Amino acid sequence: MELQHGRTKVEVGMGKRKTAQMEKRGYQRKALTTGTVYCMSGGQNGGAGHGVGDGPVYCVMNFYHLVDVENKEEELKAHEGFLSEEKLDIKGRVFISEHGVNAQLSGPEKDAVQYAEWIKTRPKFSDLHYRTFPCPGHAFPKLIVRNKALVSLLREMDTLPVTEPEKRAEKVSPKRWKAMLEEVGGDEAAEGKDKKGTMKPLLIDVRNDYEWDTGHFAGAERPEEYNFIETPVGKEVYNGLEEVDRERPIMMYCTGGIRCDIYSTVMRKQGFKNLYTLEGGIQNYLREEGEEHWKGSLYVFDSRMAVPPHLDSTKNDGYLPAVSPCAICGATAEAPHLNCANVDCNKLFLACEECKPKYYGCCCEKCTQAPRLLRPIKKDGYYAKLHTYKETDEELQRQKRDREALEEKIRRKKEAAAKAAAEGIILPAKRKSKKYLKQ
Ligand SMILES: [Zn+2]
Ligand SMILES: [Zn+2]
Repeated sequence: MELQHGRTKVEVGMGKRKTAQMEKRGYQRKALTTGTVYCMSGGQNGGAGHGVGDGPVYCVMNFYHLVDVENKEEELKAHEGFLSEEKLDIKGRVFISEHGVNAQLSGPEKDAVQYAEWIKTRPKFSDLHYRTFPCPGHAFPKLIVRNKALVSLLREMDTLPVTEPEKRAEKVSPKRWKAMLEEVGGDEAAEGKDKKGTMKPLLIDVRNDYEWDTGHFAGAERPEEYNFIETPVGKEVYNGLEEVDRERPIMMYCTGGIRCDIYSTVMRKQGFKNLYTLEGGIQNYLREEGEEHWKGSLYVFDSRMAVPPHLDSTKNDGYLPAVSPCAICGATAEAPHLNCANVDCNKLFLACEECKPKYYGCCCEKCTQAPRLLRPIKKDGYYAKLHTYKETDEELQRQKRDREALEEKIRRKKEAAAKAAAEGIILPAKRKSKKYLKQ
């Protein structure tokens, strides 16, 4: 896949042959990222989504690295120091814990790459792999850099041997994953009847149920969890896999790989011996192997909420297919999800193009009658996020205060007039109200 923005060419997911072709055609390699940025000599002045030639190329960048960090507070300080010193235009989330780092960022590609390359100079982080994906602009509202668990998985996260590669699942390249998917046997395998008495690879989606609704690999059953934090970590086995032979190959996948790396340590403890994870997660597969075996779009945890399977959100086709149907009418739904416009419901749901405007962004008829409704903020029918609504709410509060102040003013004016009338004073009719009130 490729993009042309002015003189800048952004290429993602190309093989060696294509790389050679690019270099032959006069493009020079400017930054070494997993998705390499190619620019015509003369600089990187194309602008993804910012008009041609008037701004930086933005990207979303993801990376994580599982490694023992002796002093997470100090590591955090180093990151904060670097980011403020270099004044990088980076937004997103960076979580640093005793288990390493996990980050989702957005910003000009050169800033994001500078940050990731700096992390690679940190002790123990030289093996960090980062990936960039074209994006029209920032995909996060602000930057949060914190000491926090890398993923939310109850409290047991502390006791899991996540930094020991041999306790995790075996990593499988996208190419090998594709071959293994062919053995899985598509959607019939996901019916749930196939868990016993077979040694065919079993495909499991280690994400949240709503992510599966946006898109997933054919053959993966819908997860039972609304949130990864609910994933069983004790003796209880993932989504009814109790009866599965502990020798049976299990293929685990998630968006970028970290949830599988972490959760596979739990499954290994439970006795599953042949665990495989997709290296670099779905994003890496779609980039390297294309859309075969994939259904729908990809849910992402940033303001876009979904990206097309080609992963390039600067190429807006205007339509993102979802797998699960419209929650209201059952027709084919379109990603991204909506949060119900009734603030007090806020349910995350998929809807079809017809139901979105028909129900004003609400999840059902009843919610359209609720007292606190978000108002559409864009012409295309998308609704304000909750944090936007809070700002709107503040604005409404301010208006209410102004109104009350005005009413108070009028009341005092009337009182003064009544008092004057009682005392037999005739007030000049044309006197300005301000002066009048001062008397
Ligand atoms: Zn519908
Ligand atoms: Zn609702």
